[in-house]
Amino acid sequence: MTGTHTSQHQHTTRPVRLGVMGGTFDPIHIGHLAIAEEARVRLALDEVLFVPARVSPLKLGNTCASGEDRYRMVSLAIADNAHFAVSRIELDREGPSYTVDTLEALHTACGRVELYFILGMDSLETLVHWRRPDAIVRLARLVVVTRPGYVPDWPALERAIPGVTQASEVIDTVRLDISSTELRERVRAGMPIRYLVPASVEAYIYDHQLYRDERTRASAPSC
Ligand code: ATP
Ligand code: MG
Repeated sequence: MTGTHTSQHQHTTRPVRLGVMGGTFDPIHIGHLAIAEEARVRLALDEVLFVPARVSPLKLGNTCASGEDRYRMVSLAIADNAHFAVSRIELDREGPSYTVDTLEALHTACGRVELYFILGMDSLETLVHWRRPDAIVRLARLVVVTRPGYVPDWPALERAIPGVTQASEVIDTVRLDISSTELRERVRAGMPIRYLVPASVEAYIYDHQLYRDERTRASAPSC
């Protein structure tokens, strides 16, 4: 699941430092890639594992692209980074994708591992609504990355999830005001997405005619 890097470090004294990047990746874009790389370098992570969600419990409706398409786009996007990997753990698990289940499964599968869950500030703001946020902050350190338009209320977060401040590492980095929602709208409107997603992902979207279909939009309003 975590590729060669896990075994590579089994005989060293320190545990593997594994970044975990959750999301729907509908589609993956340069914002995701840039924050994952920033977290990897700043926190000296051995690897960052991208984990596409099967169904995001907090997102209304379904995803626009299928799990397989989203998985393939992530695979294409990370292909040129030896420190990035993608996991099917949430796609292959029935039901909504809860981060706490994923973190527990990774601890079981990887043995001596330190988990660093990477998320944008918009996601942090919703953490209180996730399943067992108290457990999440015990299972992983949170790597909270700035995102345009979001300034977290730490005292309120701390009241809701005691320990969250201690468990968090804030990374202030280049702010890329880009979202998958905007990319889907751009494709539908015939506007360019070149340079906002890797070229391989752009080609995949056009080859498979993703995000164009009005009927998809009707069945899932967020599309
Ligand atoms: P959508 O518009 O469909 O919600 P998104 O661009 O927010 O898509 P997600 O798959 O929801 O992408 O996000 C996965 C993770 O990446 C989340 O933790 C989110 O906060 C973070 N993230 C996404 N885009 C950015 C960005 N431009 N800057 C910082 N963090 C981001
Ligand atoms: Mg989002």
